[in-house]
Amino acid sequence: MVYTNGNRFIVSNARNILESYGFKLFVKNEYASSAIGEVSPFDSWVELWVVNDRDYDRACSVLENALSKKGASPWVCKTCNEENDESFDFCWSCGAGPA
Ligand SMILES: [Zn+2]
Repeated sequence: MVYTNGNRFIVSNARNILESYGFKLFVKNEYASSAIGEVSPFDSWVELWVVNDRDYDRACSVLENALSKKGASPWVCKTCNEENDESFDFCWSCGAGPA
């Protein structure tokens, strides 16, 4: 397993990043939320796996770089003070940039 998060939006973002680097991936628990009564909250987290074990280290560092490049935490728009997800390049509310 290379990445997991309770927020499937963040996981699919990570998946897009890795696929853009050409990694072969599969996703576990993608549809598990429909069975949430059966499993613990942790089991229903979406999990991202690399198909080839030898890709694991490289996938981890690619993901680390990609996620840290955009800042590891949400940012607050200086124009309108709305909080934006780390993956947004521009404010969802007013369209201003992060700097
Ligand atoms: Zn804004």
